[in-house]
Amino acid sequence: MNLDFFEKQLLIDNFSEKLQKKIFDTNCLVIGGGGIAHPLLTYLVSTGFGNISIADGDKVELSNLHRQYHFNASDLNKRKAEVLKEKFKNEYEFIDIKSINKFLEEKDLFELIEHHDLIFDASDNFQTRYISNDVCHEHKKPLISGAAEGMLGIVAAFNFKEDSPCYECLFPRNYDLNENTCQNSGITPSVLGIIGSFMASIALKIIADNAFRSSVMRINLSDLSISQPKLKKDVSCKICGENKG
Ligand SMILES: [Zn+2]
Repeated sequence: MNLDFFEKQLLIDNFSEKLQKKIFDTNCLVIGGGGIAHPLLTYLVSTGFGNISIADGDKVELSNLHRQYHFNASDLNKRKAEVLKEKFKNEYEFIDIKSINKFLEEKDLFELIEHHDLIFDASDNFQTRYISNDVCHEHKKPLISGAAEGMLGIVAAFNFKEDSPCYECLFPRNYDLNENTCQNSGITPSVLGIIGSFMASIALKIIADNAFRSSVMRINLSDLSISQPKLKKDVSCKICGENKG
């Protein structure tokens, strides 16, 4: 890795070659290769995260192109994870990037989590979000989760330390959760940009500063509001509560 590439980043207070190398050595697993993954990957790689696995079983469709900007018309019907791997490999000589061309199930995640330090949930469905939470909680691996629909976005990050909540505390499974994805309620690309780049910023914070705390941020582009509700552990949570299963 040529540190000159990161010259401007290394000028920042508290940044150092040691930190830059630590960032490079962090193994990242990005679940999903869609609208959030594009800005997320852009800013992870340009910050210097050099070891990344991308998992997605989907193929590129025409309706993806307006927001999944690393794809173009020549990528139609190709595997998303594979296309992303090739694009980043060609653009950044320092990167070790792998594609996992499937939708991850719980057993896959249990195998993968051993080899990864940070897990990014950029998927578009609650099933994957719950699986990611369950496995990350069990292995105490930091989870950074992003979701968006319409003009709304949410980023939540969990460190799974004692007294720290989990994704299930925030969105309990027994609630009637509408599966509102961009498939049925649309999406504005700029909200994806905010969510993805904020997820990459949280990753940097976790690596640079062990004092990172679990947090959640909501963004509403219809009134340009940003809020950070207080996160609280749910003592009755099935995953991290007192009577967990
Ligand atoms: Zn919980």
